[in-house]
Amino acid sequence: MTNLRSLPSVEQMLQTEAAAYLIARFGRPLTLDAIRFVLDDTRTRFRSGLMSDLPSTELILAQTESQLTAWTKSTLLPVINASGVILHTNLGRAPLSDATLRAMDIVSRGYSTLEFDIESGKRGSRLIHAESLLQKLTGAEAALVVNNCASAVLLILSALANRKRVIISRSQLVEIGGGFRVPDVMKQSGAKLVEVGTTNKVRLFDYKSAAEEPTALMMRVHRSNFKLVGFTEEPELKDIVEAAHAAGVPVVDDLGSGALYDTAKYGLAHEPTVQESMRAGVDIICFSGDKLLGGPQAGIIIGKADLIAKIKKHPLARVVRADKACLAGLSATLLHYLKDEAEREVPIVKMMSLTLKQIKGRAEAWAAELGQGQIVEGESTVGGGSLPGESMPTFLLSLQVNSTEKFLRALRTNNPPIIARTEADRVLLDPRTVLPEQEGALLVGLKNLLKKG
Ligand SMILES: *Cc1c(COP(=O)(O)O)cnc(C)c1O
Repeated sequence: MTNLRSLPSVEQMLQTEAAAYLIARFGRPLTLDAIRFVLDDTRTRFRSGLMSDLPSTELILAQTESQLTAWTKSTLLPVINASGVILHTNLGRAPLSDATLRAMDIVSRGYSTLEFDIESGKRGSRLIHAESLLQKLTGAEAALVVNNCASAVLLILSALANRKRVIISRSQLVEIGGGFRVPDVMKQSGAKLVEVGTTNKVRLFDYKSAAEEPTALMMRVHRSNFKLVGFTEEPELKDIVEAAHAAGVPVVDDLGSGALYDTAKYGLAHEPTVQESMRAGVDIICFSGDKLLGGPQAGIIIGKADLIAKIKKHPLARVVRADKACLAGLSATLLHYLKDEAEREVPIVKMMSLTLKQIKGRAEAWAAELGQGQIVEGESTVGGGSLPGESMPTFLLSLQVNSTEKFLRALRTNNPPIIARTEADRVLLDPRTVLPEQEGALLVGLKNLLKKG
């Protein structure tokens, strides 16, 4: 074919069996779009002399299919996390428990009592769903769940401190990641930032003297992803609370990671817990649902009833509200803690509680299945803006490959993608973060790639 007029028309293309098959898979409008796109592209390239022969109808249909596949391909894909970073923010933070997934599934499939009171048959409130669980777990008077912890901070400050002073230590004006900078969020809320102390040292006196002027809040922010070491000083939270209360000022604690358990139990440093902040007498605490709690993305706000009531009434509360799947999933995750079964049910807690013997056993089974690789000692980390510089011992499967860069890339382009790390000329895979149900796919992927070299 050397004349554009011999190119089949859209109508002719649609008559073919192959087109009928594409329509069944992708729908008529999109298939039509793709055919037009490929024909236009063919004409342009033919006219500009980039193409001397016109393609056959079969080839045009094959190109149409590639185009349709490209247009409909998902960019959000499940991956196998063999990196050993338990709360990998770029890989979606916490994988969810079975009960959490079931709860999210069931509430999303149909209608629910999201805002409906069964007793009265009248309108109810979505804010009640996780509230009683949070009250029971933490002893807080009231609770509220929003979209994430960043929005929780914005909402709290907007509701309680708009155009008013908020005292915070310079050592806590941190950037958490993903552009969340504490001073910027404070400004956004309309609060007046009052910095006290220095980068490395803040004393109780600094807080007390700042509180001599009318003040809306004192705030503590968990440094999350970095450590302050050396010539440093910071008062205990309970002393800050005491000083604040003496001045009639409530205290907000942005915990970020917000563990309900002691991470020291797993050989890690101690991460401040929600219960400790409660015991210190903090008035409002916020933390993430998908960090050390191991649930869906959410921002959890707990604390004194009068302050929570104010926060609930602020217009931004509607803007950052949690959806039904989040509320259902979060409740299911919280229930694991209430029933003292988190270690068995919550995937990230399970990962932390794995024994070295269990991990070594899995790495050895992988090596046996692959017929190669060494078992070496290594470290897993928690990630997700918690426990900076902390790691837990693990065992890794270490593979000798020709080019680690090429092999890592091949792992990433596997279906499903496999995320590993390298050290010197070796590729390292950590069984701690590989979900048991993904092991089969991991080994198939590895076998194929190792065969190719
Ligand atoms: C992670 C973190 C946030 C943000 O939490 P998201 O749930 O990711 O929005 C806020 N504050 C602190 C201290 C954090 O560590």
